[in-house]
Amino acid sequence: MFGTLTDSFTNAIKKIRFHDDDKALSKALNELKKNLLKADVNHKVVKELIQKVQIRTKEKGIGKDQFLEALRETLNELLEVGGNKGFVFAPNPPTVILMTGLQGSGKTTTTGKLATYLKNKGKKVLIVAADLQRLAAVEQLRQITSAIEVELYEDEATKNPVEVVKAALKYADSKIFDVVLIDTAGRLAIDDELMDELKAVKDAAKPDEIFYVADSLTGQDAVRTATTFKEKIGIDGVILSKYDGDAKGGVALGLSSQVQVPLRFIGMGEKMEDLEVFLPERIVNRLMG
Ligand code: GDP
Repeated sequence: MFGTLTDSFTNAIKKIRFHDDDKALSKALNELKKNLLKADVNHKVVKELIQKVQIRTKEKGIGKDQFLEALRETLNELLEVGGNKGFVFAPNPPTVILMTGLQGSGKTTTTGKLATYLKNKGKKVLIVAADLQRLAAVEQLRQITSAIEVELYEDEATKNPVEVVKAALKYADSKIFDVVLIDTAGRLAIDDELMDELKAVKDAAKPDEIFYVADSLTGQDAVRTATTFKEKIGIDGVILSKYDGDAKGGVALGLSSQVQVPLRFIGMGEKMEDLEVFLPERIVNRLMG
């Protein structure tokens, strides 16, 4: 699942032949470093990870098992950054989520996937069409919601997303929805107009959480744009889309610690079922084979 990233751990672990000395540890760490950089993990993240594994292994006494334990601990720590995991329901329904992201990142598809995930848990979900910038966005949501049989709130009469959101939330309260997913406008690049609109939608929606959908194929740009969204409007989680197409996979390893926001889900394909909760422990198990 994690392509080159998984290989980098299995290769490094396979090559480790410990003879209880510093030299053997250095060799193993160098192998790991080389592989992680090849998998596109951010160099600062790699440096920190290697240092921690080195210190921890030495503390435990150099040996293969100790090295594996140190690696596991360090990876868990790296992926555990920043709070909530998966989907978190608000104490009082509906849980309101703002879906944000740049155009083409997979935001609209991911909104449909998240709705499918929640529907499969027995939740009543409303999707709100508040991306009124891109003409095709509402039509795309119509198709998605009709395929997954989830209700869509839209208002063709207005171009003002704030109005749509306010009316949608009133509607959601009256019909007792568990979750409201608001699909907001995306643009090709971050600009002031996009951020101003998002802020206005955020103020109207008072969301429980804001998710940022980042395209893993854009590599470190995904980290940079997520950081900008965090600074400008505040985000509570990242969903990494198109991870199935990312042969290297390294961006998933560094993202939480680089942005200081937890990675909550990963998109693993174009189908509505292709969304996985990002659970650090499970990921570490997969990575370490
Ligand atoms: P938006 O502009 O951000 O709303 O992006 P869309 O939701 O329209 O997605 C853009 C393209 O990416 C579409 O062709 C989606 O099918 C595709 N896409 C979205 N998520 C994934 C994913 O996890 N894996 C793959 N392979 N494709 C995806």
